[in-house]
Amino acid sequence: MTQEHGLPAGGFSSWLRRTRIAQADDSGADVPCGECTACCTSSYFIHIKPDETQTVAQIPGELLFAAPGLPKGNVVLGYDEDGHCPMVREDGCSIYEQRPLTCRNYDCRVYAAAGIAADRDLITQRARRWQFEYPTTDDRDRHSAVRAAARFLREHAECFPGGAVPGDPAQVAILALKVYDVFLKDKDESGATGRGSSDHDIASAVVEANEEFEARRDAGRRDDEDPSG
Ligand code: SF4
Repeated sequence: MTQEHGLPAGGFSSWLRRTRIAQADDSGADVPCGECTACCTSSYFIHIKPDETQTVAQIPGELLFAAPGLPKGNVVLGYDEDGHCPMVREDGCSIYEQRPLTCRNYDCRVYAAAGIAADRDLITQRARRWQFEYPTTDDRDRHSAVRAAARFLREHAECFPGGAVPGDPAQVAILALKVYDVFLKDKDESGATGRGSSDHDIASAVVEANEEFEARRDAGRRDDEDPSG
């Protein structure tokens, strides 16, 4: 039985910086999971990309099936009748060194950062135990901004083009990490957040911030592919 004591999540700003980098370049999250296997036992389908050949080689073919709606080569690893990934064992992932990128990038601290519940109870329980540290006011300001971003995304979907805000809590949390700087309070001003004064202005700034983040991510990928870059 899990004890409900707090779990050290690290300094907020340094965690945020690392997580944004990991989101931008798919470099994976360094999560102190300990003995927790909540995300491996919560009925998730795990997407595996075509270039993850070493991962696919570790998984029996009968456990993989074509990923719906994605190009050929994208596959999904399912779960058993108990909601457990077929690769999880008592002591954790049996293919840990070659686990899918989806698993490497998963960090349940995003829920604690955004102040929202996950879509699985086990993970919500775990996420609520994370305790960030705030060595400077900058850490607190950034955490407040991430929470404000998540709140805005959930409460003002109508301000976005076509009402397009992700419904999935993980995607909301990740988006909040990408666009949080829109919600950083001006240091010497009244405390108003966002670059604009209306909800629609703020939504526009959020869209712009997300596009900037994605453009940097795409530029990084092009640099990776271009040996001269
Ligand atoms: S592949 Fe490994 S890390 Fe990923 S869900 Fe399965 S057991 Fe967990």
